[in-house]
Amino acid sequence: MTNELKVYNPATGEEIASVAQHTKEQIEDAISRSHQAFKAWAKTSAHERANIIRKWFDLMIEHKERLAKIITKENGKPYQEALGEIVYAAGYIEWYAEEAKRIYGRTIPSHTTNKRLFVTKQPVGPVAAITPWNFPAAMITRKAAPALAAGCTFIVKPAEDTPLTAIELVKLGHEAGIPEDALQWVIGDGKEVGEIFTDSPLIRKITFTGSTPVGKHLIKNSASTVKHVSMELGGHAPLIVDKDANLELAVKQAMASKFRNAGQTCVCANRLIVHEDIHEAFAQVFSKEVEKLKVGNGFEEGTSIGPIINKRGFDKIVSQIQDAVDKGAKILVGGDTHFDDDKSYYFVQPTVLTHVDPSMNIMHEETFGPVAPITTFKTLDEAIELANDTPFGLAAYFFTENYRNGLYISENLDYGIIGWNDGGPSAVQAPFGGMKESGIGREGGIEGIEPYLETKYVSIGLDE
Ligand code: NAP
Repeated sequence: MTNELKVYNPATGEEIASVAQHTKEQIEDAISRSHQAFKAWAKTSAHERANIIRKWFDLMIEHKERLAKIITKENGKPYQEALGEIVYAAGYIEWYAEEAKRIYGRTIPSHTTNKRLFVTKQPVGPVAAITPWNFPAAMITRKAAPALAAGCTFIVKPAEDTPLTAIELVKLGHEAGIPEDALQWVIGDGKEVGEIFTDSPLIRKITFTGSTPVGKHLIKNSASTVKHVSMELGGHAPLIVDKDANLELAVKQAMASKFRNAGQTCVCANRLIVHEDIHEAFAQVFSKEVEKLKVGNGFEEGTSIGPIINKRGFDKIVSQIQDAVDKGAKILVGGDTHFDDDKSYYFVQPTVLTHVDPSMNIMHEETFGPVAPITTFKTLDEAIELANDTPFGLAAYFFTENYRNGLYISENLDYGIIGWNDGGPSAVQAPFGGMKESGIGREGGIEGIEPYLETKYVSIGLDE
């Protein structure tokens, strides 16, 4: 590993910080300290942990503008969106401060009179997290907050593109009273740090948010020490608009779902599947809205679409547009790019494609950019089959005012998160996660603390 990690503003290419990377020995030392700290943190009372974690929430809210500026600087998303992310991210801390007090066990009626049977929950142990750049705060808090609430200690390795938010969050956690060794960050190359985490017998759980290929790799490497794993992986969300949908609502929600974070979210609508009777009308109204989106630096007033995080992401988006056009797609709006390889900034004008078909890469691969391909369907079964025709199963959306059709669609979509007339279903109190190759486990809600708990069964024998 090289010693210094340089952090750049993706909107301008300017260097904004330089962070020391950890060596293998330093990361192993962090793991060892996490293991030591676990002994004491796991023994604190639930109420004590709840109070400390709640203080962390208060500090995050107190510092929300400062934290949002850091996100816009290192990730590029518009400042108002960054502010929204901080409030959303802090919401997980608030929720799990409360859930710490609700980790219940149970008693089981015995089959004999001379036994008493109990089930208790205890923390799994030191947890290692690896997180992506697209939500530099929220992807950390929805892991760290339930882990710490459960009594686990926690080490996070943030994405190399966005380490600064992670460092600030951990500092605020310490200020709130979380012991320094119970909450740590390490910086380094994903593959190398991942291997140190998975090889260590002291780490009892790996929690990861990122791409499916890396997730598979981590699952495989966790096998040698039989670690718990939670995986929040890639998506390829379909958005179905039925002929009896409220068109205005469908367009508004499709805009929100598709273009948040410049299309760089795992739950962004990736395929718009519209009934053929309303396709023309939908495409027209939708395109008009897309034309209004302002691309630029996230600090400029009115910017709704920031930069693409890096060249790798940009090249993928451009190649998907080119592949679709080569195979017969039409660009209704957008299609332009604005970039500078020397300065390393990359922007894509929000783009709408029509005449798309299943032969095109964009219909199978996650885009992670502001491109909306629209295809059509005749029957609901056809729409559902198209929607499910992917190894991914994270989020899906559909729009209909007909409750029978709505129930039928929601029951037949193979997805972990469904938005019915709703382009933004994610909420701290609700479970978030995917089916199939989109992941294992759920984050958020009452489900989100379970992956950090072990079940212990105690059978007590009494005198005859
Ligand atoms: P990525 O390449 O998988 O990177 C994510 C994290 O994994 C980064 O911290 C990265 O570190 C690290 N990493 C890379 N290679 C690794 C390896 N071999 N072993 C261990 N760690 C490794 O994903 P990305 O392209 O940055 O992020 C976008 C992906 O995340 C998309 O597929 C998106 O759908 C998914 N995502 C899913 C959710 C969800 O909740 N399901 C939420 C957000 C994003 P470096 O920075 O050092 O490479």
